[in-house]
Amino acid sequence: METTPQSRAIWEEACRYLPDGDSRHSIFWNPYPIFTESARGAVVTDADGVERLDFINTMTTMILGHGPAPVLDAARQQMELGLAYNSPNRHQVALARLLCERIPSFDQVRFTNSGTEATLNTIRAARAFTGRSKFAKVEGGYHGTHDAVLVSLRIDPSAAGAYDHPEPVASSAGLADGVLDQAVIVPYNDVEVARRILDENREDLAAVIVEPVMGSVGMLPADPAYLTMLRDFADDSGALLIFDEVISFRVAPGGAQEYYGVTPDMTALGKIIGGGFPVGAFGGRSDIMAQYSPVNGAAIAHGGTFNANPVTMAAGVATLNELTPTVYRRLAELTEMLRQGIRQVCSELEQPVVVTGAGSLFGIHFGHGPLNHYRDIASTDKDLAGRVFIGMLNEGFLLASNLVGALSTSLGEVEVDAFVRGFRRVLQRQLD
Ligand code: PMP
Repeated sequence: METTPQSRAIWEEACRYLPDGDSRHSIFWNPYPIFTESARGAVVTDADGVERLDFINTMTTMILGHGPAPVLDAARQQMELGLAYNSPNRHQVALARLLCERIPSFDQVRFTNSGTEATLNTIRAARAFTGRSKFAKVEGGYHGTHDAVLVSLRIDPSAAGAYDHPEPVASSAGLADGVLDQAVIVPYNDVEVARRILDENREDLAAVIVEPVMGSVGMLPADPAYLTMLRDFADDSGALLIFDEVISFRVAPGGAQEYYGVTPDMTALGKIIGGGFPVGAFGGRSDIMAQYSPVNGAAIAHGGTFNANPVTMAAGVATLNELTPTVYRRLAELTEMLRQGIRQVCSELEQPVVVTGAGSLFGIHFGHGPLNHYRDIASTDKDLAGRVFIGMLNEGFLLASNLVGALSTSLGEVEVDAFVRGFRRVLQRQLD
């Protein structure tokens, strides 16, 4: 608080006009969030002029760091030509082509303004396609903030049924009646229990939605056998398999579905594909996507004034064009270096830890492994994690408050090394 008086002053004014001073729950922390003034490369500068190295990159979005020249140039050029049109634009076609070329499950795609709208449409498309209403989701899985998916996340496990009989629990007030009846909850990474629960509901399920790397739970990668089981279940039952790759798309050029070699029927995207502008997308098999065709009667309604906004699309194309296979390899190597560094520090300080992740994503969990699913993660030391998060802020490093992060190409070995040394100082102080 001593180093952030300006943030505090802005926040106090903000609280008069916005509930608790902001518009995103996911980045609120006590006693108040830090306000950002500017960001360039790997460095984010706050309202007091304090600089921090960015290891979360706008909740995994800024994969090239802040203000990369090719993306700024593409966005500026388009801005000169118009900010928003009432007709389609060519950048949308270029971005759609890039996504369809890279993502194994994409025959066709449509754009939205958020990952929330993207997951909403995958579930709606599955319901329309199958004529069924229920869908299965993983306990603890976050898919945005529409009614259907605000179920069984950030819950107290003791109020959510037995581990092998999880019950849907509302994770927000204000959900429509009946939302909980539509959700079937399965544990992550448990092939046997999840398959039994899915089979019990096989006639009713329109879809199973899953993150191949669970983000909000703490960058927990799927066991490949789990994803294969879901693919088999979908094939056997007629339910559609939906991957929420809003976060995990950054692990490989074709996303986690390429990384794992498991192809879903539908995929939701967001974050990196807009180069830092608001974005989402959903896509998949052409027979499912045909439900959005106006010529064929547009069975599914899908409007949106800013869908496929030309500036967003131009920035997205410029971003993806920078993301060559070499870039993914380099990011994965750097992130592995960071994971090993954290493990080494914790081992020396005798602090049990499990460091998770895939590709450029990582999560730090204090406690003993193995960590397979939400209930395992819920039992780790959240109090220590919270104190380490604030400690890292004070040392000059940005993470998410549950100690997850995502690297950008603006970071190198020097910064990763500095991060690990900062982490050592912070953890040492907490354990002293
Ligand atoms: N799905 C996942 C896995 C996410 O991490 C998020 C956002 N953090 C969303 C969906 C929702 O995306 P948005 O915030 O763009 O609505």
